[in-house]
Amino acid sequence: MADLIPNLDLLDIVRKQIKTCVGDLELEPEVERILHSPMRELKVCLTVPMDDGTIKVFDGFRVQYNDARGPTKGGIRFHPDETIETIRALAALMTWKCALHRLPLGGAKGGVVCNPKEMSQGELERLSRAYIRAIYRLIGPDVDIPAPDVYTNPRVMAWMMDEYSRMSTKNEFGVITGKPLCLFGSEGRNEATARGGWYAIREAAKDMGLDLLGATVAVQGYGNVGYNAAYLAKSLFGCKVVAASDSKGGIYSEEGLDPEEVFVHKSETGSVVGYPGTKNISNEELLELEVDVLVPAALENVITKENASRIKASIVAEMANGPTTPEADEILYERGVHLIPDILCNGGGVIVSYFEMVQNAYMYHWDLEEVRQRLDEKMTFAYHTVLDASKSYDINMRQSSYIVAVGRVVEAMKLRGWI
Ligand code: NAD
Repeated sequence: MADLIPNLDLLDIVRKQIKTCVGDLELEPEVERILHSPMRELKVCLTVPMDDGTIKVFDGFRVQYNDARGPTKGGIRFHPDETIETIRALAALMTWKCALHRLPLGGAKGGVVCNPKEMSQGELERLSRAYIRAIYRLIGPDVDIPAPDVYTNPRVMAWMMDEYSRMSTKNEFGVITGKPLCLFGSEGRNEATARGGWYAIREAAKDMGLDLLGATVAVQGYGNVGYNAAYLAKSLFGCKVVAASDSKGGIYSEEGLDPEEVFVHKSETGSVVGYPGTKNISNEELLELEVDVLVPAALENVITKENASRIKASIVAEMANGPTTPEADEILYERGVHLIPDILCNGGGVIVSYFEMVQNAYMYHWDLEEVRQRLDEKMTFAYHTVLDASKSYDINMRQSSYIVAVGRVVEAMKLRGWI
């Protein structure tokens, strides 16, 4: 996804968010310092034979942010504009997300600077295997468990798991999650982020007295998360999805869209734009629509101090990572918009990845209903924990999610005698 790399410094934003809970958690300066930097980083240089007989060199990274609560976990991104700073910030977010959802895991992230759109399948396979060989010593089923992320997918995970297994001279299915089902991936992983997000929205709606049947929804982004968010809005709760968008623009229909048909249109034409019977709108206009639920499911930093006062949704459900800046957070809170923060709202993906780890470790297979029910329990519990903290401290949901999550990481570090 070409434009996923943020303009604003995501690491700076993550650090600002840590600062918001320093007072409430009474964090000592040394503790704060640990929270501001990753515990381990590896920069690797990968040489990969290309189809034309040349050799290309690629930079790669793996950042393990904090493992006080368990082995680190986080995706691998293949992107031409990848930077170590973005990877660091996303590794930090993974640390808080795992802690918030009470997973026995720390946070990590990895990436390779490359353009997969310009590479053949063979080149991608050789790159994926080279990356695993380079970070082999740092990862493992009990140490650090990668997963798919931007421009990586179950196919890439299968190659990576295979390379790790070859080096270990035994099958190590548990070293990677997000694998294809026939290589012991989990049921329900594909929809997990959006489904988990909707369980959180359901709880928010109950709390606010909002009836989701017929409630209007706008979704920014129509990839894995955005499409599933639109599909589940209609199929789970009978909401009316009035707007959707992608990198080429957005569409609006007062009568509501059929999310599956929009998906087919996008698959055939390359965009949601031009779907019959809809009005074209910009991504900026989509954010400012008068809807009950707004789901940013694409980019970082789209809700800023410039447009926050024009957001009209009652609920903003952050299924993307980092869609709202700290300044915008304050404006939305003052205006009474109920924001479900990213580390809470989009935790369904890592929760089901954790379920995959558990199934691999015990050689179990959970059916789809079991996965969904366990996901619902975890999302509902986390939502109410964050909501209760927000009410008792009289702070916004972002701050309370950080107080709960960072508080758990700090408690683990202290009990282990690190600080
Ligand atoms: P994806 O690549 O499948 O889809 C991204 C979508 O965003 C595409 O439809 C793309 O066209 C659209 N997009 C790109 N630029 C845009 C722009 N300028 N305006 C509007 N739309 C634009 O990615 P995804 O897996 O759906 O991830 C989306 C977001 O959710 C990211 O922030 C990601 O970090 C976050 N997230 C994903 C998961 C997961 O399980 N996939 C888990 C947690 C968080």
